[in-house]
Amino acid sequence: MVDTTVDITINKAVVSLVRGDITNETLDAIVNAANSRLAGGGGVDGAIHKAGGSLIMEECRKIGGCKTGDAVITTGGNLKAKFVIHAVGPVYRDGKHGEDKLLASAYKRSLEIASARGLRSIAFPSISTGAYGYPVDEASQIALKTIIDFAKANTDIKIVRFVLFSERDMEVYKNTLYKLTTVE
Ligand code: ADP
Repeated sequence: MVDTTVDITINKAVVSLVRGDITNETLDAIVNAANSRLAGGGGVDGAIHKAGGSLIMEECRKIGGCKTGDAVITTGGNLKAKFVIHAVGPVYRDGKHGEDKLLASAYKRSLEIASARGLRSIAFPSISTGAYGYPVDEASQIALKTIIDFAKANTDIKIVRFVLFSERDMEVYKNTLYKLTTVE
């Protein structure tokens, strides 16, 4: 049951939650949970560079870096997605260092960049909730609220898909989406 895909429509966009590996996505762009040096690493970042090939890293080196809470776009290299948007989420310390605003901004900037490029579909991982230690429950509220607010105001992006790696993350995101969309 927990693996069942969830789809909801917000304004012109379908927001969905699926369980899987983001490197397999065929949408216009996939988002990478990058670090501010754009240096690659473990987790989803490592998986994207491994599957996408060296062209992505070449472009990252040229760009040079990205501030926490911001995002940059590169080719999708060998991936099925045309582009990779590298978003830098915050390292979670104690929740009192502006982590919530920085996480929201990482999602928002990714959506803005996609929209400005004329992209229509985008897939996100759960930014900051792996090595960066953001509690998944809180992070899911920020992620989904930011995306819902964006979809209410923007009609360019038609598909926003969260690709969740673990069963537990899928369950948490589902519960949060349910709460956010039934309370309103
Ligand atoms: P961060 O450093 O931002 O915390 P991580 O890559 O460590 O980034 O983790 C972010 C999330 O990405 C975690 O929930 C992790 O389970 C998930 N993840 C790891 N590999 C993949 C993948 N191939 N596809 C989708 N999500 C992934």
